[in-house]
Amino acid sequence: MLMDSVERERLLDIDGAPMRPPLIDTFGRAISYLRVSVTDRCDYRCVYCMSEHMTFLPKADLLSLEELDRLCSAFVARGVRKLRLTGGEPLVRRGIMTLFSSLSRHLATGQLDELTLTTNGSQLAKYAADLAAHGVKRINISLDTLDPEKFRAVTRWGSMRDVLAGIDAAQAAGLQIKINTVALKGVNEDEFAQLMAWAHGRGMDLTLIEVMPLGEIGEGRLDQYLPLSLVRARLGEQFTLTDIDYRTGGPARYVRVAETGGNLGFITPLTHNFCESCNRVRVTCTGTLYMCLGQEDAADLRKPLRASEANDLLDAAIDEAIGRKPKGHDFVIDRRHQRPALARHMSVTGG
Ligand code: SAM
Repeated sequence: MLMDSVERERLLDIDGAPMRPPLIDTFGRAISYLRVSVTDRCDYRCVYCMSEHMTFLPKADLLSLEELDRLCSAFVARGVRKLRLTGGEPLVRRGIMTLFSSLSRHLATGQLDELTLTTNGSQLAKYAADLAAHGVKRINISLDTLDPEKFRAVTRWGSMRDVLAGIDAAQAAGLQIKINTVALKGVNEDEFAQLMAWAHGRGMDLTLIEVMPLGEIGEGRLDQYLPLSLVRARLGEQFTLTDIDYRTGGPARYVRVAETGGNLGFITPLTHNFCESCNRVRVTCTGTLYMCLGQEDAADLRKPLRASEANDLLDAAIDEAIGRKPKGHDFVIDRRHQRPALARHMSVTGG
């Protein structure tokens, strides 16, 4: 009798639903990492991410915070162990701390290893302490330059002072920080050594990212694209870079920098794609599941989510979609490929 109830308890997830088998795609990759874009809106208009005049989704199309919780929890029950909230800018979604708060129950049960976010840092001074209180330990902050004028030009609207205040607040709250910098030809290519010394000097990792051909942005990608193979070779002339096995669950590959004692990551979707070890899927704020950042194919999860209070339909839709996860993407930026590879902006699926 006792055995039965223990057994039964083990087969129920925290929300009382029966546990379901883990998500494994047809290439044998286990899906353990979900990124959720909680809003497509942002308080910045970074030149490589959005056009200046974006049309955003009507608020009525968005999943409610309760629905986002249900969706995330359905993935956690299927073996997702890392959850990243992103956007748009996640911290501009009204009431977003309620979602962090409710999702933190999965950290408490040990079903989730990490709850985190990617942010531009503009609202962090306000939210850093709350995030830490909800079990967030490490966060990614996007910052492409340390020059206030350039910062304003890249973000079109942003103030670097807000981001620096956000970084101070996050460190004061005990959050570990990784700075994400998109490598932009002719914009910040002379700044990587300085950015690295600054980040490492403050105990933060730095990751450089190749610009991806996502969405119409009103200017040519070829003008922005800087291959990281070149950046690495240039930094290698100044610093001693040693490949290390350090991983944070995402696509970055790291080197140790002897002179600074810090870690430098490279995310190279163009010069070296990393799809063979992809463990990720992405959900938008309207409940559309993208199995690959670099492909159009998607599945609507909002309909099955809303069709029934139980998760059977939702689970079936997730299973069906994961069965279609493609082998990989093949971004190209060159003279013949200057149009976006995909119409969707990065702010739809999140970074
Ligand atoms: N607003 C948050 C932020 O700024 O971090 C989260 C969303 S933003 C879309 C996530 C990350 O994607 C940022 O680091 C941003 O720099 C990066 N990003 C946006 N568009 C990109 C593109 N076309 N290629 C590469 N990275 C891009």
